[in-house]
Amino acid sequence: MNRKCDAFNCSREVDTGRFLCPSHWRMVPVAIQRSINTRFRACRANFAFLSDLAYLQACVDAIDGIARIEFGAGHAGHQARQGSYHRLLTLAKKKAAT
Ligand SMILES: [Zn+2]
Repeated sequence: MNRKCDAFNCSREVDTGRFLCPSHWRMVPVAIQRSINTRFRACRANFAFLSDLAYLQACVDAIDGIARIEFGAGHAGHQARQGSYHRLLTLAKKKAAT
């Protein structure tokens, strides 16, 4: 089963292991693309990237950046923060602080 693009309000299907659909991936700054790819590869085993601060932060930056471009800053702050990466990042930060 394919997964869905993680950009806010996008329901396009993406290949397994892909984070965003091609058109949204192109909207992500190259530096953030690079952190996502590097951390994803480094933390692939046991889905460790799902608790990797650097990976999750880069994903959240990418999603928020796209939402700002597409919907404007206010909307991005209000809606995109409900996403699963935002929740995972909050959890990972709590875990790192303990
Ligand atoms: Zn998309």
